[in-house]
Amino acid sequence: MPDPNGFLRYDRRLPARRPVPVRISDWREVYPPAGEELIREQATRCMDCGIPFCHDGCPLGNRIPDWNDLVRTGNWDAAVDSLHATNNFPEFTGRLCPAPCEAACVLGLGGQQPVTIKQVEVEIADAAVARDGLRPRPASVSTGRSVAVVGSGPAGLAAAQQLARAGHTVTVYERDDAIGGLLRYGIPDFKLEKQYIDKRLAQLTAEGVRFRTGVEVGVDVTAEQLRAEHDAVLLACGALQGRDTPETPGRALRGVHQAMAHLVAANRVVAAAGDGKPALATLPDGTPIDAAGKHVVIIGGGDTAADCLGVAHRQGAAGVHQLDLYPEPPAERDAARDPWPTWPWVLRNYPAHEEGGERVFAVAVQEFVDDGTGQVRAVRIAEVTVEKVDGRRIVTALPGSEREIPADLVLLAIGFEGTEEQPLLAQFGVTRNGRGAIDSGPDWQATDGVFVAGDMHRGASLIVWAIAEGRAAAAAIHTYLGGVGDLPAPVDPARQPLAAR
Ligand SMILES: Cc1cc2nc3c(=O)[nH]c(=O)nc-3n(C[C@H](O)[C@H](O)[C@H](O)COP(=O)(O)OP(=O)(O)OC[C@H]3O[C@@H](n4cnc5c(N)ncnc54)[C@H](O)[C@@H]3O)c2cc1C
Ligand code: SF4
Repeated sequence: MPDPNGFLRYDRRLPARRPVPVRISDWREVYPPAGEELIREQATRCMDCGIPFCHDGCPLGNRIPDWNDLVRTGNWDAAVDSLHATNNFPEFTGRLCPAPCEAACVLGLGGQQPVTIKQVEVEIADAAVARDGLRPRPASVSTGRSVAVVGSGPAGLAAAQQLARAGHTVTVYERDDAIGGLLRYGIPDFKLEKQYIDKRLAQLTAEGVRFRTGVEVGVDVTAEQLRAEHDAVLLACGALQGRDTPETPGRALRGVHQAMAHLVAANRVVAAAGDGKPALATLPDGTPIDAAGKHVVIIGGGDTAADCLGVAHRQGAAGVHQLDLYPEPPAERDAARDPWPTWPWVLRNYPAHEEGGERVFAVAVQEFVDDGTGQVRAVRIAEVTVEKVDGRRIVTALPGSEREIPADLVLLAIGFEGTEEQPLLAQFGVTRNGRGAIDSGPDWQATDGVFVAGDMHRGASLIVWAIAEGRAAAAAIHTYLGGVGDLPAPVDPARQPLAAR
């Protein structure tokens, strides 16, 4: 029986982040562990409200009140089991999820403070590692059926683990040189140290999952070969087609890059350096893409932009501006616009924003300005208003509002246009829809025996959705292969986040 008064005794508290001057001098995670006393106190704030809306907020249906109470009472082994029953990789979501569950927590009603669900989750996840080092759970009997998973992000890995544990032989194909998808070279170490991916990979390997890196399906191995070698295929190739702005004058100047080029280069340097001082980040052709000593302008307001900001400060940028097309969101939920328990439009301050830089809202770039040698020296911006007319976004510049911001390095973090157009699609006979995603039937099949999950199916989204879709697609593949019993399927392909409209 949970403590019904815990939230009256304790306020919401999170562990202190590492001091800014210390953390921007290295690439380690921003948060230290919370410590058992704090996390048991915070878990005590969960009152087990009877109708846990947090379950609906979490696409995985994590059993949040159950594990909160197990943590409160110090039953860590049971908490680990309860969390792993619904989530293959809580060490990823506990660190990186924006926590729609917390937006749906009953304690958050009326502008109050929700339970620190995500922090409890990461502490349980880390307890799992500390207790038994992520004990492998290999299948006791093989089904003799074989599945190819294309793409090793959280969707592909969750599906691979579910299928391997059900007795199927699983091979994960990844074109990159390391497994992990965006977790590996997209998301910086200060948000997710890569040791957590490696520990999980050791578990998956011990459970029988085979990994083939450096293999681009559609190029190094054809769809036909994959179909011949396996009984089913899961496509989990992500939504990595970065949105660009080719119409903006000066886009072709040196120093104007896609944000992902910057993040991947930086992450590769950190991966190569280990704990040592990283070298300058470069593109694969050797062109430097490092913020050291530079005036950096980041265009965009989401996760990717915040990650570029944190990387720029760690690389030693002279100054950083982050530009957003939209006006500054309110600090608190506007209940008329986004009633509880939906995900609210509010100003999101990432740890990277504490580290410096200036955010400029309601502006659009009019031109990338040439220094006369083909290198960008500034961006010319204008204040704008944004309206939706017939579903189309109309951006209007305010006359006389133009000004220049100095820029030696400009990073475009303006979103993704779905999964990349690549040979694999035509070979499997699937096409991108209007959003650049791959549609599936209600059983996750895009075409006969070929399933799709994660960002490739949903469009650029979140890790929690990728894991949920990977689990659900694995359940559908298990059924398709005639597997015994049902695997858990937390979402169906049409499932959307909680929304008021
Ligand atoms: C910079 C950045 C920061 C983010 N931060 C967060 C965050 O803090 N929290 C959060 O919840 N979400 C975050 N996201 C979103 C999250 O990373 C994605 O939603 C999630 O990784 C999607 O998982 P996925 O498995 O569908 O695809 P991905 O992680 O994109 O993995 C797809 C994999 O498929 C591989 N692939 C593609 N084509 C082929 C082929 N033909 N053959 C072999 N392999 C192929 C790719 O190389 C890639 O490794 C962030 C995204 C970005 C870009
Ligand atoms: S995965 Fe995300 S939504 Fe689900 S419980 Fe964890 S933090 Fe909340």
